[in-house]
Amino acid sequence: MSDFVIVGAGVIGMMLARELVLGGATVSLVDRLACAQESTWAGGGIVSPLYPWRYAEPVTQLATWSQSSYLHLSQDLQEETGCDPELRQKGMYMVDVEDEKEALHWATAFNRPMQKVDSSHLYLREENFCNGYSSALWMPEVCSIRNPRLGQALRESLVKSSNVTLYEHHEVQQLLQRKGIIYGVRTSQGDITGGKTIITAGAWSGELLKPLNVDLPVEPVKGQMMIFNAPVGTVNRVILMAGRYVIPRNDGRILVGSTLEFEGFDKSTTKQAYDSLYKTAVSIIPSLANYNVEHHWSGLRPGSPEGIPYIGDVPGYEGLAVNAGQFRNGLVLAPASTRLHADLLLGKEPVINPVAYRLEGRI
Ligand SMILES: Cc1cc2nc3c(=O)[nH]c(=O)nc-3n(C[C@H](O)[C@H](O)[C@H](O)COP(=O)(O)OP(=O)(O)OC[C@H]3O[C@@H](n4cnc5c(N)ncnc54)[C@H](O)[C@@H]3O)c2cc1C
Repeated sequence: MSDFVIVGAGVIGMMLARELVLGGATVSLVDRLACAQESTWAGGGIVSPLYPWRYAEPVTQLATWSQSSYLHLSQDLQEETGCDPELRQKGMYMVDVEDEKEALHWATAFNRPMQKVDSSHLYLREENFCNGYSSALWMPEVCSIRNPRLGQALRESLVKSSNVTLYEHHEVQQLLQRKGIIYGVRTSQGDITGGKTIITAGAWSGELLKPLNVDLPVEPVKGQMMIFNAPVGTVNRVILMAGRYVIPRNDGRILVGSTLEFEGFDKSTTKQAYDSLYKTAVSIIPSLANYNVEHHWSGLRPGSPEGIPYIGDVPGYEGLAVNAGQFRNGLVLAPASTRLHADLLLGKEPVINPVAYRLEGRI
């Protein structure tokens, strides 16, 4: 029997397992699929909220802590596993921003590197960017990460640990309880018991809690993306324009995202989204019209009010906690969300004040 049973092996469940194991605990990590096949695979991998000044302070706090930890996390994972998550610290341009003043004010208040740059700065670095822009906002320290590789590296690192038991292809059907005390989960392949059960099931977290009459406001928000097979250097940095973005990978591939659709658990892709994403792609980088779209897919983000995740114990149930609802920012918020939670679970002083993320008063 492990100290912790974690339900959901996306970036949140895997990073939480890693933090708990680093703290000396034993973990059973359970997923109905293989690790990192849902939103964590489907995401774009920008290690920053889009338009970060438009978020509430609790999101900024998690993002800032995470951003400073990604460089060494990525390096540690590569050394441990040989799998490179391809963290690129090349910065992010934001073009045609209507609330520039607020952005610059936020950057000063939160000490985030951001400046307004002229067209020569932009076109020198991104010669394929569409014509006609005289300035942009520039955040030089923003990174991107190849999230499917991050998922692989995290899985490898957990598999190597004797303190982790990984149960892939085990669907959790119900939480096991005795007089209000949760003591594990019933899965498609038998019961798994442990000291404390933690729900990190992304968009599905609310569904797992419904039978306990716990109403967690985490809902699926579909996002569709596409990827172009372009030569290295076509785009070098993340570029954000009119709410959409392009993200380059090390091998030249360019992701274009994304839609925001409130359609329940339907994960189908649509021709309408394909056409719209394609239009976005060639409006930002006209030369993308010369290259093939390699793939078009969708994922379900764990949507939550204001994108502030729920991190902590579930009121009314002993032995049950949640870490879910990172919404559009689960990749960037993961290191801080999971370190904070591991600190609480292991009885340590938390790295960030946990109050804003608690479930009490929010569900
Ligand atoms: C198109 C798109 C673009 C995005 N871009 C970015 C970005 O650029 N930057 C960023 O920071 N974030 C981005 N995100 C958001 C980010 O991907 C998510 O916030 C993050 O991956 C959520 O991680 P998670 O571990 O909570 O959920 P998930 O990765 O969805 O993992 C949940 C896991 O729970 C498992 N599960 C569910 N139900 C059960 C059950 N009953 N039993 C067992 N297991 C179960 C699932 O199989 C899954 O593996 C994007 C998302 C999308 C869709």
